[in-house]
Amino acid sequence: MGGKHARFSPSAAGRRLNCPPSLTLEEQFLDEESEYAAEGSAGHALAEHLIKKHLKQRSNRPTSAYYTDELIEAVDEYVSFVISEIEEAKRICNNPVFSVEQRVDASDYVDECFGTADMVVVTDKVAHIIDLKLGKGVPVYAESNPQLMIYGLGILCMAELLYDVETVRLTIFQPRLNNSSTWDISPDALKTWGEEVLKPRGAMALMGAGEFKAGSWCRFCKARNHCRARAEEFLALAKMEFRQPALLSDDEIAEVLKVSDELASWASDVYAFAQNQAIVHGKEWDGFKLVEGRSNRKYTSEDEVAEAAAAAGYTDIYKRSLVAITEMERIMGKQDFSRILGHLVYKPQGKITLVPDSHKREAINKTTAAAEFQEV
Ligand code: SF4
Repeated sequence: MGGKHARFSPSAAGRRLNCPPSLTLEEQFLDEESEYAAEGSAGHALAEHLIKKHLKQRSNRPTSAYYTDELIEAVDEYVSFVISEIEEAKRICNNPVFSVEQRVDASDYVDECFGTADMVVVTDKVAHIIDLKLGKGVPVYAESNPQLMIYGLGILCMAELLYDVETVRLTIFQPRLNNSSTWDISPDALKTWGEEVLKPRGAMALMGAGEFKAGSWCRFCKARNHCRARAEEFLALAKMEFRQPALLSDDEIAEVLKVSDELASWASDVYAFAQNQAIVHGKEWDGFKLVEGRSNRKYTSEDEVAEAAAAAGYTDIYKRSLVAITEMERIMGKQDFSRILGHLVYKPQGKITLVPDSHKREAINKTTAAAEFQEV
């Protein structure tokens, strides 16, 4: 990691391909490293170390204040998956190639386009790129994922020097969302995408050409709070004309549903930005003021409270509670946990939610949904 900053970073490729001038617009803003990104980097460093150890390569265990049990567990899950891929590759190929945190260069397609693939496993037939995503926000899928397709192009360039690769395999592993997906594409189809989509859109992005277009890719854009195209897209909704009859039709409600997620995330971005400006920089916004939020009463010292209550004769003041399931599993280890407590653990049905058709989860049948609602 580190080194020169790529102007066309693969991790922002979804945004660049959909909204090419976002690249030059974002260059006006300072780099912002969020807590989430710093935690993600720490998780990746630990994964790199553990995989290198398995490959008997030199590596020192990194240290970080971010290493909670939960993060370590997520990284462990990813590392187990990678190790199973490594062992399988050894079984089917005499000379597989393994590379952790492999620098990938796709500047044959777009100038200054390079990045780092978390794990690469190359056999005589398959070039497999595995990407660890430690985010807990939105699930990300491998199919047609431009970041991984760019890594695929870069790795293909190297792998084809060794083997006649038949398949480029792209995997996204997102342990904290229990989400993992793999997508295969042929080298020819990948190169055609590189020539016909990546090259022209990438050139436009570097020049600041093309049209601004708002969508789900705005989520991590540095211009998201100020962007006029994004504001116009959402404010257009507010201009929906009132027509007769007075109630919205089913089609109109479906229109609102389609954009409601994005609309909510845009509104909360702008709100968070404006609030931060007011608190940190004293900025005043017309019609708004800063107030103190509600707060709950707290003990100044638990020890002193226990002492004072006991002195007054109140002794039944403590609650005992079991440690949470993840913590219990960590204490016992997966096998013992499953042997001793497996039959005492169940997974309640998830809350029923309305999502767009494009969502990967399978639809539940309507009778079940109605029955569930009545039981609540
Ligand atoms: S916020 Fe969205 S529309 Fe605006 S520049 Fe960024 S990606 Fe493009």
